[in-house]
Amino acid sequence: MSGLSQRILGLKVSSTIAFNAKVLELKRAGVDVIAMTAGEPDFQPPPHVLEAANEAIRLGLTKYTASEGTRELRDAIAAKHARENGLDYGADQIIVSSGGKQVLYNAFMALLEPGDEVIVPSPYWVSYPAQIELAGGVLVAVPTSADQGFVPDPELVARAITPRTKAILLNSPNNPTGAVYPESVVRQIADLTELHDLWLITDELYEHIVYDGEFVPLARYYPERTLLVHGASKGYALTGWRIGWGCGPLALVKAMGALQGQVTSNANAVAQYATQVALNEQELTAAFQARTRAAYLERRDVLVRGLNELGLPTPTPQGAFYVMADTGRIDADENVAAITLLERAHVGVVPGTDFAAPGFARLSYACSLEHIETALERVEGLLA
Ligand code: PLP
Repeated sequence: MSGLSQRILGLKVSSTIAFNAKVLELKRAGVDVIAMTAGEPDFQPPPHVLEAANEAIRLGLTKYTASEGTRELRDAIAAKHARENGLDYGADQIIVSSGGKQVLYNAFMALLEPGDEVIVPSPYWVSYPAQIELAGGVLVAVPTSADQGFVPDPELVARAITPRTKAILLNSPNNPTGAVYPESVVRQIADLTELHDLWLITDELYEHIVYDGEFVPLARYYPERTLLVHGASKGYALTGWRIGWGCGPLALVKAMGALQGQVTSNANAVAQYATQVALNEQELTAAFQARTRAAYLERRDVLVRGLNELGLPTPTPQGAFYVMADTGRIDADENVAAITLLERAHVGVVPGTDFAAPGFARLSYACSLEHIETALERVEGLLA
């Protein structure tokens, strides 16, 4: 029997998952670890959404749906983007998948030929390189710096364009940096896609978690060459329900649908119905988003202040629920620093290595204020 495919042998386990596994292992051994590793809200979903899931079961909405998602959910998504973002999509320009993750994978599979390049500002979310490589493409990183608030420089993006460039991918608010890109910057980068005939992929999963600055829906510039990637996980606290969606030109969305139809078919039917209610009950959902945003903001401020006071320089992020802390004071190697924090301070963080952020660790503050304060005390103890 021959071995595994080169494709799989080349695939790396995500460091977020790897560090989470270490945290769980210590917890199982009875150690009281504060996990700041995972990228998921600690809030329960809003009650009206939980009730909608029960209603879906009562109504018997438990069968296969259209592979690309129910018409009702796609209409609700179209209405959301029209209402909140001023975008105009027909239901046939929308695909519902099992998380934003699957939307992105569908897109890379539908767009990339072997060797095609996708430009992504770094630090970036760990799954982008893995997914792009699985689809045969190459991620071309354009570094950003803490000094510049991790906002990409359009000139550096322009310089990274080659004849093999197929797409530029932007993620604002950003995981892992929390940066929210200003309008002037995203406009210039969007113009590059028009000038060089490229795709623009915009990952907007953290749209509703913005504290300072303004969220800019990137599809407003060149919708005919833009794929908007969104989902219910972050802003609606529905991570485990696995609902994401993509909105874009008909031909691309159809191609992504053809792939999904052969691989997974529809996303979970009950979760589709609950997401439809989350989007349509806009007042209740907006109140939930405002409440959770206020809680994240309070935590962000405590964490950023605390880390800076401890000599771990940490810029103030404008969105999402992550900070990037410079861990040089603990160890020059961010992996050693992360292991030291875990084993000696019992604080779980993710080293920056796989985000292309050497010297940094990502800390998620989607955990209670009490946990954040205890984590800071522990780091202080370690440094003392
Ligand atoms: N994009 C970014 C930047 C993320 O951080 C995540 C999740 O961590 C996703 C996409 C995918 O989220 P999901 O598949 O839960 O919709």
